[in-house]
Amino acid sequence: MCAAASRPPRSGDCGGRMVTRQLGRAAGEAAAAIGSRAQSTATVPSKSSRKGKKVNVLYDSLERGIAEKEETDSKRLKWEPGNWRQQLENIREMRRNKDAPVDQMGAEKCFDSSAPPEVMRYQVLLSLMLSSQTKDQVTSAAMLRLREHGLTVDNVLQTDDVTLGQLIYPVGFWKNKMKYIKQTTAILKQQYGSDIPSTVKELVNLPGVGPKMAHLVMDIAWKNVTGIGVDTHVHRISNRLKWVKKETKTPEETRVALEDWLPRDLWSEINWLLVGFGQQICQPVNPRCRECLNRHICPAATRC
Ligand code: SF4
Repeated sequence: MCAAASRPPRSGDCGGRMVTRQLGRAAGEAAAAIGSRAQSTATVPSKSSRKGKKVNVLYDSLERGIAEKEETDSKRLKWEPGNWRQQLENIREMRRNKDAPVDQMGAEKCFDSSAPPEVMRYQVLLSLMLSSQTKDQVTSAAMLRLREHGLTVDNVLQTDDVTLGQLIYPVGFWKNKMKYIKQTTAILKQQYGSDIPSTVKELVNLPGVGPKMAHLVMDIAWKNVTGIGVDTHVHRISNRLKWVKKETKTPEETRVALEDWLPRDLWSEINWLLVGFGQQICQPVNPRCRECLNRHICPAATRC
């Protein structure tokens, strides 16, 4: 039996030889896994006096090799669209003037910034409820009329349906929206102290509020980015640029697909960027590809 068995092994005794033999085997396995680079550095210590140093080199080599392999694996698993950074930069450049309808009349521009915080939040929610299937110009005009009338929870609850309908007309689906606004406002009064809920889960439980709206409300009203607000523009352009791994059928599918790879610090900006880009250049019908900086790197560009 080796005398060194009862104390911690050192290189040079039989414990050390055992460690180096094990490391030698591990080095061989790691080298096979990580390729020729690891093989060239995974030297098994010999009988020379530099054994300790070589063991350290071996550890470093193994750790480096394993770290590199893990990084490669994670990159291989993480899908992202080709050219997306360049496409995004081009869209930023095309949106530099901030002169799309959304820039002047979007939900961020429709509330009274001098109102108490809970009133501002209520107005953000209402402008987003009005905005679905409606042009920004029409939503903005309706919000102006509502604010002149008095856009608070109490005031809306005291407003009869006919008057409320006249105030929001002609936003898309105005009759349904009038009903949803009344129901939602009553819930806010009864359950949230005339404020709006501060979670997506509670927001989507309100009548007439879907996931897209909820994430935008969280971002604009609560300054909390919880997800990407995907409307028809974001949905369409993401599919044209192939920013989704496979074609998506609904905005909600697109949201999930985008959130899978798009860095989180871009989630808020992407809605604003793509909505304006869709209003001005990448329009639903007849996109203006000839004016688009992405025309050479866009899979959907029309070459005319
Ligand atoms: S090239 Fe055409 S389809 Fe592609 S992003 Fe530009 S406008 Fe849209």
